[in-house]
Amino acid sequence: MSAKRQQLMQALRGALPSANLLWQKEDTAPYECDGLAAYRTLPLAVALPENEAQVQAVLKVCNEFGVPVVPRGAGTGLSGGAMPMQEGIVLSTAKMNQILNIDPLSRRATLQPGVRNLAISDAAAPYGLYYAPDPSSQIACSIGGNVAENSGGVHCLKYGLTVNNVIQVRAVLMDGEVVEFGTEALDAPGLDLLAVMIGSEGMLAVVTEVTVRLVPRPPVARVIMASFDDMTKAGNAVADVIAAGLIPAGLEMMDKAATRAVEEFVHAGYDLDAEAILLCESDGTEEEVTEEIERMSAVLRQSGAIRIQVSQSEAERMVFWSGRKNAFPAAGRISPDYYCMDGTIPKKAIATLLNQIKEMEDRYGLRCMNVFHAGDGNMHPLILFDGSDEDQWHRAENFGNEILEACVALGGTITGEHGVGIEKINTMCVQFDEKERDAFFGVKAAFDPAKLLNPDKAIPTLHRCAEYGRMHVHRGQLPHADLPRF
Ligand SMILES: Cc1cc2nc3c(=O)[nH]c(=O)nc-3n(C[C@H](O)[C@H](O)[C@H](O)COP(=O)(O)OP(=O)(O)OC[C@H]3O[C@@H](n4cnc5c(N)ncnc54)[C@H](O)[C@@H]3O)c2cc1C
Repeated sequence: MSAKRQQLMQALRGALPSANLLWQKEDTAPYECDGLAAYRTLPLAVALPENEAQVQAVLKVCNEFGVPVVPRGAGTGLSGGAMPMQEGIVLSTAKMNQILNIDPLSRRATLQPGVRNLAISDAAAPYGLYYAPDPSSQIACSIGGNVAENSGGVHCLKYGLTVNNVIQVRAVLMDGEVVEFGTEALDAPGLDLLAVMIGSEGMLAVVTEVTVRLVPRPPVARVIMASFDDMTKAGNAVADVIAAGLIPAGLEMMDKAATRAVEEFVHAGYDLDAEAILLCESDGTEEEVTEEIERMSAVLRQSGAIRIQVSQSEAERMVFWSGRKNAFPAAGRISPDYYCMDGTIPKKAIATLLNQIKEMEDRYGLRCMNVFHAGDGNMHPLILFDGSDEDQWHRAENFGNEILEACVALGGTITGEHGVGIEKINTMCVQFDEKERDAFFGVKAAFDPAKLLNPDKAIPTLHRCAEYGRMHVHRGQLPHADLPRF
């Protein structure tokens, strides 16, 4: 161990209880990747602070030694945002998992960053309240990770993403300073730095406390399962529902490959003859739900649904949703590996993209399952491959990049909720030009001038874009023609 590294470890030992610093290979190995398991790196050490003062102490030490820090919640991220750096420290919030306060009167909950998403709703349930953003990983993912990724879920179509449900955030900057974002009031003067923090992928500050909005649990909820004999009709039906002025509590789509994989796994009662199914939920009072289900069914029939089934009990509703919520693990059962993409597109383009993906499946010689937040236009194609075959992994990566580029071409974006991390850093070059990327770096520098907090994630450098061969070309002029192209 080099002298500098020894000094760093000694300083970190002074910042934390001894059991809260891991540095032996067998202890740090579980942190070598997040949900994007294809990329792995062992960190120098893992710090597990128990409170904000310890977060401050760890960051101050790393700042002094010029050592990068990668914040980590539950490690369920799918874009490599929590992947360690070889010469860096992972700061895990796993031990900061206390619910600090639930206030049913103001319908708010204040949480440490390591609190699991589902634990918030469990704690609020006795008051008839819950936390609306519900990523499919909600049983495991942390609220700190949700803030960093601006996570969404099935119910975000009606209730909004993390950014619409978080009121205040407390965080620590790289130099140890504590900063607060947001206010208890409805609005505040000045720039909306809370919105800047949400979705900042651990690059600006380490979140140490989050105050969220809780909403009343609707008395009734029912879900329609609509079958289509044609993917294009199903895709267009999504746009038709929204165009009819309906805002379902959830509007999800699964293609035949997805329903088949899921049915074998959880027996959700899906129509296996259908080319695609839509799950369309209504919640509210009995009268509201009855009326809305009727209107939704009429639109879906008009759009070509060949079968409509409405959940008749809460148990049946949960069974319908269990299939959707287990789609990712179901993909893991039928393929050694899968690569989950996360682009968004305007709803009217869903059918176009699905048909383009079909054509790509043939070209890349790989299967793809489609299961996604259709109402948000947030696509999650799952590319199935075998990671032990390097050629298949290479094809899966290219397949994924082509899907994201198609999303941008259709007027969408390269990520809806999983973040950029390291996974989509190249495709950022397709979506943003040099000036825009400079603006992002400018924001980062305002929070983290030494570029030590989760560096090299989410914002690509000019060199990286040149290497990827995707630089914004203005009027046929190749910018920075002097940069080598690889
Ligand atoms: C099966 C499965 C299903 C999923 N479904 C969804 C879904 O429906 N919707 C969705 O949005 N996502 C989904 N995800 C992705 C993932 O669960 C979310 O992005 C989640 O918010 C990550 O939370 P985490 O605690 O695991 O964060 P991590 O993976 O540990 O970290 C994610 C990012 O947040 C940063 N970070 C974590 N904690 C902090 C903190 N305290 N301060 C600052 N930065 C921090 C990290 O540096 C990293 O960049 C899914 C993942 C899986 C495996």
